[in-house]
Amino acid sequence: MNLSDINTIRSLLSSKGFSFKKSLGQNFLIDSTVCPAMAESCCDENTGVLEIGPGIGVLTAELSKCAKKVVAIELDERLKQLLPITLADCKNVEIIYGDAMKLDLKRIISEHFGDCQRVCVCANLPYYITSPIIMMLLESRLPIDSITVMVQQEAAERLCAEVGSRDAGAVTVAVTFYAEKEILFHVGRESFMPAPNVDSAVIQLKIRKEPAVKVKDEKKFRLLTKSCFAQRRKTLVNTVSNTMGVSKETLREALNKIGLSDTVRGEQLTIEQLAELSDNI
Ligand code: SAM
Repeated sequence: MNLSDINTIRSLLSSKGFSFKKSLGQNFLIDSTVCPAMAESCCDENTGVLEIGPGIGVLTAELSKCAKKVVAIELDERLKQLLPITLADCKNVEIIYGDAMKLDLKRIISEHFGDCQRVCVCANLPYYITSPIIMMLLESRLPIDSITVMVQQEAAERLCAEVGSRDAGAVTVAVTFYAEKEILFHVGRESFMPAPNVDSAVIQLKIRKEPAVKVKDEKKFRLLTKSCFAQRRKTLVNTVSNTMGVSKETLREALNKIGLSDTVRGEQLTIEQLAELSDNI
C-alpha cells in the first residue's frame, strides 16, 4: 500500500470513517522520498527503532524495511482500526498505544530491543510538543545512539544553532550538552496535504558518550541556561539574579573570574562559559 498516495489514503480513511485530527499534529505526508531517506539515515538491520507518533504508518513502514525491529508509540487509539491494515506486511513492528511523554521508555527499550546492537529514535514529531519530547528523550538518558526527527524548519534552526549565536535558545544549549546535531535535509510545505504555512526539516542528534561539558550540578546548569535565555535583552546579571535568586555581586565576580564583562547577556556565552559559571555560583 502506497501510504504517500493521497487517493489511497483518502479511500482508506473514508472506508473506516477516520479523519485526521489537527490538534494531534496529524497530516498527510505526500512526498514519497522523505520517509525512506529518514529511515536510511538512522538504522540498519541490527538497529531497534523507537518511533513516536506513527500516524497511519508512513514512516513506520520504511523503518520496518531498514531496521531489525520497530516499536511505535501512538497516542491516538482510533488508529487501532487502521494500523493493522496499513502495516499488515511489517512483521517486525509493534505498536504501543499511549502518551510518549508519560510511558517508561527505558523499560520499553530494555523489554523490546535486547537482541538489537543499537537503538535509535526516529519520528515525524507532532510540532506542538517538539521541544518537550526532545528534551524528555535527552534528559532521561535513554540508552540510544541517535534521535532523527522531522520538526518545523524554525525549530530545526534553533535546535541545531551554534551556542552563542543569535539563533540559539535554552534548548540549543541543552541539545548541545547531550548530542552532536545536524540538519540532514529540508522538507518543503508542498510535501504535505493540505500544505501547512511552515516548512520542515529533518535533524539528527547523535548522542554523546559524555556530555559536551563537565558540570558539578546538571540541574543547576539547566536552570542557569533557562534563566540566561528567559529575558534575552537584559544583562545576565539582572536576569539570573531575578530568576535564580543569586546575588548580583556573586554573579559579577563569577563572570569576571572567567574573563567576561558584567554587562554580558546570557545568550552571548559559549557552553563552556555557561558550565564554568554554573560551577562558580
Ligand atoms: N508518522 C506520521 C507521518 O510521518 O506522517 C504521523 C506524524 S504526525 C506529525 C504526529 C503523530 O504523533 C500523530 O499520529 C499523533 O497522533 C501522534 N502523537 C501526538 N502526540 C503524541 C504523544 N504524546 N505520544 C505519542 N504519539 C503522539
